[in-house]
Amino acid sequence: MRDALSNYSTRVTSQSEPVPGRSDTVPNDAGGYGFAVSDWTRALRFLILGTDGGTYYVTERDLTKQNAEVIVKLANTEGERLVSLILDVSERGRAPRQNPTLFALAACTASTDIETRRAALAAIPRVCRTGTMLFIFARYVEQFRGWGRGLRAAIGDWYMNKPVDQVAYQAVKYRQREGWSHRDLLRLSHPYGVVAEPERKALFSWICGRDDAAPVPPIVNGFKLAQVDHRDEPGRWAELVTQYELPWEALPDAAMNEAVVWEALLPHTGLTALVRQLGRLTNLGLIAPMGDQTRKIAERLMDADEIKRSRIHPLQLLVAHVTYAQGRGFKGANTWTPNPKIIDALNDAFYLSFGNVEPANKRTLLACDVSGSMTWGTVANSPLTPLEATGALAMLALRTEPESFPMAFSHEFKPLPISVGMRLTEVVQTMRALGFGGTDCALPMQWAARNKVPVDTFQVLTDSETWAGSAHPFQSLRRYRDIMGIPARLAVVGMVSNGFTIADPTDAGMLDVVGFDTSAPAIINAFSRGEV
Ligand code: CA
Repeated sequence: MRDALSNYSTRVTSQSEPVPGRSDTVPNDAGGYGFAVSDWTRALRFLILGTDGGTYYVTERDLTKQNAEVIVKLANTEGERLVSLILDVSERGRAPRQNPTLFALAACTASTDIETRRAALAAIPRVCRTGTMLFIFARYVEQFRGWGRGLRAAIGDWYMNKPVDQVAYQAVKYRQREGWSHRDLLRLSHPYGVVAEPERKALFSWICGRDDAAPVPPIVNGFKLAQVDHRDEPGRWAELVTQYELPWEALPDAAMNEAVVWEALLPHTGLTALVRQLGRLTNLGLIAPMGDQTRKIAERLMDADEIKRSRIHPLQLLVAHVTYAQGRGFKGANTWTPNPKIIDALNDAFYLSFGNVEPANKRTLLACDVSGSMTWGTVANSPLTPLEATGALAMLALRTEPESFPMAFSHEFKPLPISVGMRLTEVVQTMRALGFGGTDCALPMQWAARNKVPVDTFQVLTDSETWAGSAHPFQSLRRYRDIMGIPARLAVVGMVSNGFTIADPTDAGMLDVVGFDTSAPAIINAFSRGEV
């Protein structure tokens, strides 16, 4: 019999409606209802994932505006805490890309709060560790403020407070980027009026195009000598590289096509630069079957200490692995024949770069959102979509947790055919084949309840744009707990920098983390063990 009263429930509510009695459910971008994430979660999503490419529902421009507004609000209200977060993300290498942290730091230097401005200016040398980062920061800062005295002094300190050899290294490695050069920044901050060390003064003069009687740091001489065309005798470039420890950026383009030059560069080329050159090194014959260099490079890629020291991010290694294995760049016409040893080394490097992740030893359902919206946009400006990146994170969890099971969902349950023996490049291909359909983020809990699957922790990797279900995910989790008698937890791994989550913020058994935050696996596992 029809009963009008049966349509109203606080326990089972269609995702297309807000939950009665819960004023904190808000409309998401997909036409459903979810919870708004806190400003801090949103800020962290922005710092880690960026806004490049927008989302399926929101343009890049609007997504950037939404996130920037949260950053500016926090800069003005809780700015010192935001500067601390920026420092933590930057110095611990939690983010795949530095642009969002540099953008947020620039916003903090324009805070209405003087303590925040002071903290932000003091953080410049720690966050802008390279010349390129300093140039990107200089570009962003003009979007928020003018070049006042405090800012000019802080930039001047960047050039004054580090050993002169380090400034010289930055000056020959990153000469100009982002419409800025060291000459521009030195002219703005003009610290050279008060330089006591003759060598530093000579370096600044050289950067500004003037000659100085005092000798410049040795690497500047090496740089000058390397600008000569040595194509007839590339060994000369190699000698200069070794003698002066020149970085590859200090060499002319013609030198980049000489195997002997790369052989000299490799010992002091960091992992981040190295993984971008693997295609080239293969074409030059340095990476060859049974080759000495092949072995050395593979060993370095699997060296946990070097990975840690280099602060290379897992996403950079994932992209390097997928790119190298496909034998051509995502952009450009470069092709190469991939070497299996290097493909495998990059595969291992991805897992090593998360550091030691202790298993929670909990029964863990790895539920991957494979709906159409996950195929849109990019993760942190990489060539990978949230869907492809989701597969890699699921693999990490699958390898970490002994009792774990992968599944996929859109508006319906789907099997997820990944296993620990697969290479990540195969995982990415598997994910690519799945992305379509509507979204019901309650499905993992409903599926486990229906099939009586015992689960301690649901790990749901998603953009939280849920709309197609007859019950909200948090309601389905409560129902699962009741039916199974297990106090199951839900960790939502946010794969997009939007403002929504399926996790109930008032339930301590639900948690939001950010996908590809290198801290996330440890946080999830501590949560899974009930420690947080
Ligand atoms: Ca979706």
